[in-house]
Amino acid sequence: MVVAQSMMDAPLILLADDSREILTFLTDTILKPAGYEIQAVTDGLSALTLARQLQPDLLITDQNMPNLTGLELIRRVRAERPHFPAILITAEGSESLAIEALRAGASDYLVKPFEAEHLLAAVGRALQESRQWRTLCEAQARSDETADNVKQRLTELEGLAQIGRAVTAMLDLDAILKTVVDSAVKLTDAEEGSLLLLDEHSSELYMRSSKNFDEEFASTFRLRVQDSLAGQVIASGQPVLLDERSPQKIKTSYLVHSLLYVPLRVRARTIGVLGVDNRKAGRALTQEDTTVMSAIADYAAIAIDNARLYQKTEADLRKLETVLTQTEDAVLLVDLDNRLLMANGSACRAFGVDGVLIGRSLVESFEDAGLLELVRAPGHLPRRSEILVADGRVFNAQRTPIPGVGQAIVMQEITHLKELDRIKSEFVTTVSHDLRSPLTAILGYVELIGRAGPVNEQQAEFIRRVQVSVEHITALISDLLDLGRIEAGLDSAKEPLPLAMLAHYAVDGLRGAAETRGLKLEAELPDDLPLLPGDPIRLRQMIGNLIENAIKYTPEGGCVRVEAYADQDQVILRVHDTGRGIPPADQPYLFDKFYRAGNVSSDTSGTGLGLSIVKSIVDHHHGRVWVESALGRGSCFTVVLPAVVG
Ligand code: ADP
Repeated sequence: MVVAQSMMDAPLILLADDSREILTFLTDTILKPAGYEIQAVTDGLSALTLARQLQPDLLITDQNMPNLTGLELIRRVRAERPHFPAILITAEGSESLAIEALRAGASDYLVKPFEAEHLLAAVGRALQESRQWRTLCEAQARSDETADNVKQRLTELEGLAQIGRAVTAMLDLDAILKTVVDSAVKLTDAEEGSLLLLDEHSSELYMRSSKNFDEEFASTFRLRVQDSLAGQVIASGQPVLLDERSPQKIKTSYLVHSLLYVPLRVRARTIGVLGVDNRKAGRALTQEDTTVMSAIADYAAIAIDNARLYQKTEADLRKLETVLTQTEDAVLLVDLDNRLLMANGSACRAFGVDGVLIGRSLVESFEDAGLLELVRAPGHLPRRSEILVADGRVFNAQRTPIPGVGQAIVMQEITHLKELDRIKSEFVTTVSHDLRSPLTAILGYVELIGRAGPVNEQQAEFIRRVQVSVEHITALISDLLDLGRIEAGLDSAKEPLPLAMLAHYAVDGLRGAAETRGLKLEAELPDDLPLLPGDPIRLRQMIGNLIENAIKYTPEGGCVRVEAYADQDQVILRVHDTGRGIPPADQPYLFDKFYRAGNVSSDTSGTGLGLSIVKSIVDHHHGRVWVESALGRGSCFTVVLPAVVG
């Protein structure tokens, strides 16, 4: 066995010489004992034929031979195998023959008679050179193969880069998916390619794009997910690579020899499959193809996801646009520099502007002072105001800052509500006024009853109750009349006033009431506050109402404190008390007419109009009023009024 192996590995030498004795001598005495295998021939042409058939490792040839000389033999053999080693032996050595032998490509040249060791040394050298040459050639072949691989990788990368460019540069999804499928087929050297997407409603796959499929087949292709290979990829999210040798049977709706399916994944969900296949047996699809296809599938998934997002955004935008343009509310959107970003038809009609104003400053395009004041108002909080536009309509405008964008102004027309309010106020004022005279008469006659003759104790009590009720109705009517006058703007004359002085008057006027209820009444009212433009009677009424309430709703032993201070161009007045507080649910409605909080019993005197009057007076002085309160601990009413400027 070992011998056979060594025989197999022994270099094969083709030995050509017209002398049989020499052939036998060289074979048996020198070469075979040295471990070489010998094929011997006695003429040149036979040597050439054997050299072609046997592909020996070395040729040793005599120069003088029938049919073909040794030199010619070497030339012809080396013409076919350029690096084939050959040794020329000759009986008549000459310098010119030696030169010719080397030119023909002989690796050595021996003149008979020669020593056995010279021949073996020449054979050893020739075989050694040949082996080195072969190693070199193999290395070269290997590096050629590597270069081919690198080239192949480069082509793949170029292909992928091309898809990447297509995905980012093209907007048309059809074109992108066509590029994707074309590239998949090209880079995997497959016959056909397809991109199947999942129809979520029918749980079927349809062919969204294809290459080399019959057009009609592609457009009508429908595959149930449950029992298909593509469905397997959808379910597992893993690629599938199959050929005839695969243990699993290839199950598609058409016949193929090999195929590769990779999943299309978007946001951790498989939405479809990218596939290539070969109908004919031939080039097998490999694991490398899976890698390339997965990369292509990622691009396709991004493109599909982008396209879907784009379509959704477009649709949402159109919906929003329709809502904004069709709505009856006037809507304006400005940027951080108050340049107009959007104005719907209602807004343009309300302010009597038309034409394209987008991008222009609001100040240049809109003249309405109310709107400009609202837009320019400092602060980042929502703000509300009423705007009376040129055609007489009244809008309730809400300014909402949008961080990073600017602000939105939404305005609802409230002309009809204002009119209703006006009619109602007028009615209330008329009725209140007309009620006053009979009430005065009732009160007068009730007072006279006692003087007209003796009344018993029970009658006196009834008279007292009538008086209390009439006084309550009278207070209610004067509050209503006040409110009517204030809301109608009848007291619009304004003069610069020192708020501290008005507050002092109010505090002094109510000190007696506070003492009667056993309360401490404190005031911190600096004299150097800025003046504010206002109506002295109404402002004093406003402060008085707040202090009266504080006294009324604070139990004995408590404290009421009035303070005022300046902040930039504003004067701030606060009325604190340590009273019963106001339930949070009641606080938003406190300034509504006739509203009384749930923790006030019905026998507590009051009309529920005091705070409405406060609010109306503050509004007419362009100020703001609000309350902070904690149940059982007390309340604080704050009024902010703009000071006289300059
Ligand atoms: P009223 O005539 O009832 O006092 P107002 O309009 O002055 O009417 O006040 C409305 C309601 O607000 C009151 O009924 C009361 O429930 C609540 N309120 C006002 N001021 C205070 C206060 N300082 N402490 C607690 N509750 C108050």
